[in-house]
Amino acid sequence: MALPIAPGARHILQALAAQGHEAYLVGGCVRDLLRGVTPHDWDICTSARPEETRRCFAGQRIIETGLKHGTVTVLAGTEPYEITTYRMEGPYSDRRRPDYVRFVPNLAEDLARRDFTMNAVAMDLAGNLRDPFGGAQDIKRGLIRCVGEPDLRFQEDGLRVMRALRFASALGYGMEERTAGAVRRNRAVLSRVAAERINAELCKLLEGQGAGAVLRQYPDVLCQFWPQLGPLAGLEQHTPWHCRDGWAHTVHAVEAAPADVTLRLTMLLHDVGKPACKSTDGKGADHFCGHPAVSARMAGEMLRALKFDNRTQERVVTLVAYHDEQLLPQERAVRRWLSRLGPEAFFQLLEVKRADSMGKALEQVRDRLAELDEIKIMAEQILAQGQCLTLKDLAVNGRDVIAAGVAPGPEVGRVLNRLLDRVLGGEVPNAREALLELIDAAR
Ligand code: ATP
Ligand code: MG
Repeated sequence: MALPIAPGARHILQALAAQGHEAYLVGGCVRDLLRGVTPHDWDICTSARPEETRRCFAGQRIIETGLKHGTVTVLAGTEPYEITTYRMEGPYSDRRRPDYVRFVPNLAEDLARRDFTMNAVAMDLAGNLRDPFGGAQDIKRGLIRCVGEPDLRFQEDGLRVMRALRFASALGYGMEERTAGAVRRNRAVLSRVAAERINAELCKLLEGQGAGAVLRQYPDVLCQFWPQLGPLAGLEQHTPWHCRDGWAHTVHAVEAAPADVTLRLTMLLHDVGKPACKSTDGKGADHFCGHPAVSARMAGEMLRALKFDNRTQERVVTLVAYHDEQLLPQERAVRRWLSRLGPEAFFQLLEVKRADSMGKALEQVRDRLAELDEIKIMAEQILAQGQCLTLKDLAVNGRDVIAAGVAPGPEVGRVLNRLLDRVLGGEVPNAREALLELIDAAR
């Protein structure tokens, strides 16, 4: 069967070979081909020096930003292809990046600097595999294994700790025992990794099919950059609704949420304020009064520390803050929530509440889940009918209010909001005449 190799990548390999250079597909794209998945990008490695590579593609669009590390990026069509000269890396004295890179004459040395066996594989156009570390077999077994001595490799570059977790989740793979041990032992190296890079790996981890399993197995790694998660482990919850400790519930809730970064971050952080809010009454029942607000504040701090963009921060904080609000399957209530949060955030909140419920004692929440379905259908109907939800939709505006005798200024907005509130509550139809009559009463 022909390999699904992108025409651009094929062209590049052929052009390099035509000039007498060795050239291979390498790393993630070969891993994905072996897994039977179409790669999302194509990295190429070659014996050609960067200036030789450039000469091969003279006349084509070239990006030179990676040049000092040996990378020439060629644009074939609109797609960028990274072509990197075989290289090895010097020692990582700052534990972030190698002190120097040195070009090497052969592929085997280049493969040896790569992180995991499944990523230390190369392939030529005929499909011949170069696999000195048994990557293909590890892919077959679904195992993540360091190339070389695991402790050393994680010490060299702390990001690999997060990459190991991310691949475990995204691919649903297990971790080879020595690699797993080294991940745990060396997690402190993460403190030297830039927040943005941890962020990128964490997002892929959370979106992965194995996110729950990874969170369950490696909580200490996450605590390295988010120590606030630590006290959830072992947090007992003697309430009628819970059957798990704080961390086990959190992980269940993450798994139950759709594989979307915003929703899964929300579930990861939704109860982070619980340990600080816990009290136990005379009958031995636990209470967590005010935990959504505390969790929301902590979530904001945690997301900021990891340099999440403002939009993600705001949305997650909102969803965490409202995750425990009671939603009733009543049209009026649903309209008010839609008005308050906007449709997108409201539907996300429904997902959050569903995932939260799924993490609780199931016999206690079955009715809640049915109610959430009902609420969702109601919300969809309200939107389909184009019902009035915001001041913009209201059948009267500021000019009407002023014409009715209200002095221009903040009072106009207050009157409009009172009218909107009555429309949302279903007390009055969103009709101009009816609302004009009410302006006096709304002052
Ligand atoms: P993805 O599917 O997410 O692109 P990938 O394995 O291709 O996964 P990249 O970040 O694109 O990941 O890296 C390309 C290749 O470079 C990897 O397959 C691996 O061989 C090597 N590599 C990347 N990051 C590191 C690292 N931190 N340490 C060692 N090798 C790395
Ligand atoms: Mg890649």
